[in-house]
Amino acid sequence: MKNWIDEIKSKLEAQKVITSKDCWQLRNNNTRYPYVWLNGQYYQISRITKEIYQGIKIYNHALHKCDNEKCWNPDHIFDGMPIDNYNDALKKNRSKLKNKGGTEKFTCINGHKFTPETTVFYKKKNGQINKNCKICIAQRNLNKRIRRVKL
Ligand SMILES: [Zn+2]
Ligand SMILES: [Zn+2]
Repeated sequence: MKNWIDEIKSKLEAQKVITSKDCWQLRNNNTRYPYVWLNGQYYQISRITKEIYQGIKIYNHALHKCDNEKCWNPDHIFDGMPIDNYNDALKKNRSKLKNKGGTEKFTCINGHKFTPETTVFYKKKNGQINKNCKICIAQRNLNKRIRRVKL
């Protein structure tokens, strides 16, 4: 049996049109944020295309480098937060986003700067909001994958 990634990929590939700017669009779908249905579930294509083609999960928002909302070329999409949402989340949670010493968290424990592109906001079990560093998450996932390869 095919997994959902292969199923969606074949649905998308069947309708793929590449524009002169190298954007990937659906032949028969002119909505602003194209989607596909699979097994009764709705998938916004720009949110899943990086996972399907590059194995990279989107944690925040799927933003377009090309400013073409219909595009789902994984190279044109990055995981980030619209600067307004980011500042909003920061403002709302500023008091909670502190280090043990009481200073604001501007970098992760490994020294990466928190920016709209590198920050994941998440809720802890006790409901508190915290920040996570996407560079570190990517590094951990990579290490996991390397460990899984047996020599
Ligand atoms: Zn594009
Ligand atoms: Zn980090």
